[in-house]
Amino acid sequence: MKTGITFLASSSAGNSLVIHAGGEGVMIDAGINGDMLDGLLKSELDPKLNIRGLLVTHEHGDHVRGMHYICTKHGIPAIMTPALYEEIKNNLRGVKVLLCQKEERFSLGHFEILAFPVPHDTVDPVGYSIQFNNMKFGIATDLGEVDSAAERHMLGSDVLALESNHDLDMLKSSQRPRILKDRIKSSRGHLSNVQASEALGKILSGNTKRLFLLHLSQECNTAEKVDESVKARLEELGRKDIEYHIVNKGICPAKYWI
Ligand SMILES: [Zn+2]
Ligand SMILES: [Zn+2]
Repeated sequence: MKTGITFLASSSAGNSLVIHAGGEGVMIDAGINGDMLDGLLKSELDPKLNIRGLLVTHEHGDHVRGMHYICTKHGIPAIMTPALYEEIKNNLRGVKVLLCQKEERFSLGHFEILAFPVPHDTVDPVGYSIQFNNMKFGIATDLGEVDSAAERHMLGSDVLALESNHDLDMLKSSQRPRILKDRIKSSRGHLSNVQASEALGKILSGNTKRLFLLHLSQECNTAEKVDESVKARLEELGRKDIEYHIVNKGICPAKYWI
Protein backbone atom coordinates (compact mmCIF):
# COMPACT_ATOMS: atom_id res chain seq x y z
CA MET A 1 0.00 0.00 0.00
CA LYS A 2 1.52 3.30 -1.07
CA THR A 3 1.78 5.38 2.09
CA GLY A 4 2.35 9.10 2.34
CA ILE A 5 2.51 11.87 4.90
CA THR A 6 1.69 15.38 3.81
CA PHE A 7 2.46 18.36 6.01
CA LEU A 8 0.07 21.18 5.21
CA ALA A 9 1.51 23.47 7.89
CA SER A 10 4.10 23.07 10.62
CA SER A 11 5.36 25.82 12.90
CA SER A 12 4.35 27.57 16.09
CA ALA A 13 1.93 29.54 13.87
CA GLY A 14 -0.11 26.57 12.65
CA ASN A 15 -0.02 22.81 12.28
CA SER A 16 -1.79 20.22 10.17
CA LEU A 17 -0.73 16.97 8.56
CA VAL A 18 -2.41 14.09 6.77
CA ILE A 19 -1.33 10.45 6.68
CA HIS A 20 -2.72 8.73 3.61
CA ALA A 21 -2.69 5.19 2.28
CA GLY A 22 -4.97 3.03 0.17
CA GLY A 23 -7.42 5.84 -0.59
CA GLU A 24 -7.97 6.67 3.09
CA GLY A 25 -6.44 9.33 5.27
CA VAL A 26 -6.35 10.71 8.78
CA MET A 27 -5.65 14.35 9.50
CA ILE A 28 -3.89 15.46 12.64
CA ASP A 29 -4.76 18.98 13.74
CA ALA A 30 -6.18 21.78 11.64
CA GLY A 31 -4.33 24.79 13.00
CA ILE A 32 -4.42 27.29 10.18
CA ASN A 33 -7.22 29.40 8.72
CA GLY A 34 -9.93 27.04 7.43
CA ASP A 35 -10.16 28.52 3.97
CA MET A 36 -6.42 28.30 3.50
CA LEU A 37 -6.34 24.74 4.82
CA ASP A 38 -9.15 23.77 2.48
CA GLY A 39 -7.17 25.19 -0.45
CA LEU A 40 -4.12 23.14 0.58
CA LEU A 41 -6.21 19.98 0.89
CA LYS A 42 -7.42 20.53 -2.66
CA SER A 43 -4.03 21.34 -4.13
CA GLU A 44 -1.93 18.78 -2.24
CA LEU A 45 -4.07 15.68 -1.87
CA ASP A 46 -6.02 13.41 -4.15
CA PRO A 47 -9.58 14.82 -4.27
CA LYS A 48 -10.89 11.26 -3.93
CA LEU A 49 -8.99 10.71 -0.66
CA ASN A 50 -11.43 9.65 2.06
CA ILE A 51 -10.30 11.51 5.19
CA ARG A 52 -11.76 9.38 7.95
CA GLY A 53 -11.24 11.80 10.79
CA LEU A 54 -9.43 14.78 12.28
CA LEU A 55 -7.39 13.76 15.31
CA VAL A 56 -7.10 16.76 17.61
CA THR A 57 -4.08 17.00 19.91
CA HIS A 58 -5.09 19.99 22.09
CA GLU A 59 -6.96 23.28 22.08
CA HIS A 60 -4.23 25.81 21.25
CA GLY A 61 -5.15 27.92 18.23
CA ASP A 62 -2.20 26.71 16.16
CA HIS A 63 -3.85 23.24 16.25
CA VAL A 64 -7.59 23.96 16.01
CA ARG A 65 -7.95 27.24 14.08
CA GLY A 66 -9.43 25.62 10.97
CA MET A 67 -11.11 22.67 12.71
CA HIS A 68 -14.72 23.80 12.53
CA TYR A 69 -14.49 24.93 8.92
CA ILE A 70 -12.81 21.78 7.64
CA CYS A 71 -14.95 19.34 9.62
CA THR A 72 -18.26 20.93 8.64
CA LYS A 73 -17.31 21.56 5.03
CA HIS A 74 -16.11 18.01 4.42
CA GLY A 75 -18.22 16.12 6.97
CA ILE A 76 -15.06 14.91 8.71
CA PRO A 77 -15.54 13.77 12.33
CA ALA A 78 -13.34 15.45 14.94
CA ILE A 79 -11.78 12.96 17.32
CA MET A 80 -10.62 13.93 20.79
CA THR A 81 -10.61 12.97 24.44
CA PRO A 82 -13.71 13.68 26.57
CA ALA A 83 -11.87 16.33 28.62
CA LEU A 84 -10.80 18.21 25.50
CA TYR A 85 -14.35 17.99 24.15
CA GLU A 86 -15.69 19.60 27.34
CA GLU A 87 -13.20 22.41 26.90
CA ILE A 88 -13.94 23.21 23.24
CA LYS A 89 -17.50 21.98 22.67
CA ASN A 90 -18.74 25.52 21.99
CA ASN A 91 -16.55 25.57 18.90
CA LEU A 92 -17.90 22.26 17.67
CA ARG A 93 -21.49 23.09 16.79
CA GLY A 94 -22.51 21.12 13.73
CA VAL A 95 -19.36 18.98 13.88
CA LYS A 96 -19.61 15.22 14.31
CA VAL A 97 -17.43 14.35 17.30
CA LEU A 98 -16.01 10.95 18.21
CA LEU A 99 -14.56 10.62 21.70
CA CYS A 100 -11.54 8.46 22.40
CA GLN A 101 -10.04 7.36 25.69
CA LYS A 102 -6.31 7.81 26.16
CA GLU A 103 -4.21 4.69 25.73
CA GLU A 104 -7.14 2.71 24.28
CA ARG A 105 -6.74 1.61 20.70
CA PHE A 106 -9.59 2.23 18.22
CA SER A 107 -10.09 1.74 14.49
CA LEU A 108 -10.83 4.36 11.90
CA GLY A 109 -11.05 2.83 8.43
CA HIS A 110 -7.92 0.75 8.12
CA PHE A 111 -6.03 2.84 10.67
CA GLU A 112 -5.54 1.62 14.25
CA ILE A 113 -5.17 4.68 16.44
CA LEU A 114 -4.16 5.37 20.01
CA ALA A 115 -4.00 8.73 21.80
CA PHE A 116 -1.33 9.00 24.47
CA PRO A 117 -0.85 11.72 27.08
CA VAL A 118 1.91 14.30 26.66
CA PRO A 119 3.02 16.98 29.15
CA HIS A 120 1.82 20.37 27.84
CA ASP A 121 0.00 23.24 29.53
CA THR A 122 -3.49 22.55 28.18
CA VAL A 123 -6.51 20.60 29.42
CA ASP A 124 -5.78 17.11 28.09
CA PRO A 125 -2.97 17.17 25.50
CA VAL A 126 -2.16 14.04 23.52
CA GLY A 127 0.10 12.61 20.86
CA TYR A 128 -1.01 9.85 18.50
CA SER A 129 0.23 6.44 17.48
CA ILE A 130 -1.22 5.26 14.17
CA GLN A 131 -0.78 1.74 12.83
CA PHE A 132 -1.81 0.15 9.55
CA ASN A 133 -0.38 -2.27 7.04
CA ASN A 134 2.37 -3.37 9.47
CA MET A 135 3.59 0.19 9.81
CA LYS A 136 3.55 2.44 12.85
CA PHE A 137 3.64 6.24 13.00
CA GLY A 138 4.38 8.04 16.29
CA ILE A 139 3.50 11.73 16.39
CA ALA A 140 3.99 14.26 19.19
CA THR A 141 4.17 18.02 18.91
CA ASP A 142 3.76 20.38 21.85
CA LEU A 143 5.31 18.62 24.80
CA GLY A 144 7.62 19.89 27.51
CA GLU A 145 9.48 16.60 27.77
CA VAL A 146 9.36 13.11 26.31
CA ASP A 147 8.03 11.39 29.42
CA SER A 148 7.55 7.68 29.95
CA ALA A 149 4.10 7.52 28.29
CA ALA A 150 5.31 9.34 25.18
CA GLU A 151 8.39 7.14 25.10
CA ARG A 152 6.37 3.96 25.45
CA HIS A 153 3.97 4.81 22.64
CA MET A 154 6.46 6.29 20.22
CA LEU A 155 8.96 3.49 20.58
CA GLY A 156 8.85 0.94 17.77
CA SER A 157 7.58 3.46 15.21
CA ASP A 158 8.67 3.15 11.59
CA VAL A 159 8.02 6.85 11.19
CA LEU A 160 8.51 9.37 13.99
CA ALA A 161 7.35 12.97 13.97
CA LEU A 162 8.54 15.01 16.93
CA GLU A 163 8.69 18.71 17.66
CA SER A 164 12.02 20.51 17.81
CA ASN A 165 10.62 23.84 18.87
CA HIS A 166 13.31 26.26 19.89
CA ASP A 167 16.97 26.99 20.24
CA LEU A 168 17.53 27.83 23.89
CA ASP A 169 19.92 30.73 23.21
CA MET A 170 17.58 32.27 20.66
CA LEU A 171 14.71 31.94 23.12
CA LYS A 172 16.76 33.54 25.91
CA SER A 173 17.79 36.51 23.79
CA SER A 174 14.36 37.02 22.20
CA GLN A 175 12.12 39.94 23.11
CA ARG A 176 9.47 37.62 24.50
CA PRO A 177 8.15 38.35 27.98
CA ARG A 178 9.80 36.42 30.80
CA ILE A 179 6.59 34.60 31.67
CA LEU A 180 6.28 33.24 28.13
CA LYS A 181 9.93 32.17 28.05
CA ASP A 182 9.41 30.29 31.31
CA ARG A 183 6.27 28.64 29.97
CA ILE A 184 8.02 27.44 26.81
CA LYS A 185 11.00 26.08 28.77
CA SER A 186 8.91 24.32 31.42
CA SER A 187 8.25 20.58 31.52
CA ARG A 188 4.75 21.35 30.20
CA GLY A 189 5.95 23.68 27.44
CA HIS A 190 7.90 22.80 24.31
CA LEU A 191 10.95 20.71 23.42
CA SER A 192 14.14 22.60 22.66
CA ASN A 193 16.42 21.33 19.90
CA VAL A 194 18.66 19.79 22.55
CA GLN A 195 15.75 18.04 24.28
CA ALA A 196 14.36 16.72 20.99
CA SER A 197 17.76 15.35 19.97
CA GLU A 198 18.34 13.81 23.38
CA ALA A 199 14.92 12.15 23.27
CA LEU A 200 15.91 10.33 20.09
CA GLY A 201 18.02 8.05 22.25
CA LYS A 202 14.79 6.88 23.92
CA ILE A 203 12.36 6.65 21.00
CA LEU A 204 14.38 5.43 18.03
CA SER A 205 14.29 1.69 17.50
CA GLY A 206 15.48 -0.81 14.92
CA ASN A 207 12.21 -0.20 13.04
CA THR A 208 12.69 3.53 12.64
CA LYS A 209 13.31 4.57 9.06
CA ARG A 210 12.09 8.15 8.90
CA LEU A 211 12.15 11.04 11.29
CA PHE A 212 10.39 14.38 10.90
CA LEU A 213 11.20 17.38 13.05
CA LEU A 214 8.22 19.68 13.40
CA HIS A 215 6.72 22.77 15.02
CA LEU A 216 9.80 25.01 14.75
CA SER A 217 9.36 28.36 16.43
CA GLN A 218 9.48 31.03 13.74
CA GLU A 219 11.14 33.51 16.04
CA CYS A 220 13.37 31.30 18.18
CA ASN A 221 14.67 28.59 15.86
CA THR A 222 16.08 27.92 12.41
CA ALA A 223 16.11 24.80 10.26
CA GLU A 224 19.93 25.01 10.26
CA LYS A 225 20.10 24.79 14.04
CA VAL A 226 17.74 21.80 14.09
CA ASP A 227 19.78 20.12 11.39
CA GLU A 228 23.03 20.62 13.28
CA SER A 229 21.57 19.18 16.44
CA VAL A 230 19.82 16.15 14.90
CA LYS A 231 22.68 15.26 12.60
CA ALA A 232 25.17 15.18 15.45
CA ARG A 233 22.84 13.14 17.62
CA LEU A 234 22.10 10.53 14.93
CA GLU A 235 25.83 10.14 14.36
CA GLU A 236 26.38 9.73 18.09
CA LEU A 237 23.65 7.07 18.20
CA GLY A 238 25.12 5.27 15.18
CA ARG A 239 21.88 5.88 13.25
CA LYS A 240 23.05 7.59 10.10
CA ASP A 241 20.69 5.18 8.28
CA ILE A 242 17.67 7.21 9.38
CA GLU A 243 16.34 9.62 6.80
CA TYR A 244 15.29 12.81 8.52
CA HIS A 245 13.46 15.90 7.35
CA ILE A 246 12.98 19.24 8.98
CA VAL A 247 9.52 20.50 8.20
CA ASN A 248 9.03 24.21 8.61
CA LYS A 249 6.66 26.77 7.27
CA GLY A 250 9.06 27.77 4.54
CA ILE A 251 8.79 24.40 2.84
CA CYS A 252 5.16 23.52 3.58
CA PRO A 253 3.28 21.95 2.04
CA ALA A 254 5.61 18.99 1.88
CA LYS A 255 4.72 15.47 0.84
CA TYR A 256 6.79 12.38 1.59
CA TRP A 257 6.22 8.84 0.42
CA ILE A 258 7.26 6.23 2.93
ZN1 LIG B 1 1.50 24.19 18.96
ZN1 LIG C 1 0.32 23.93 22.28
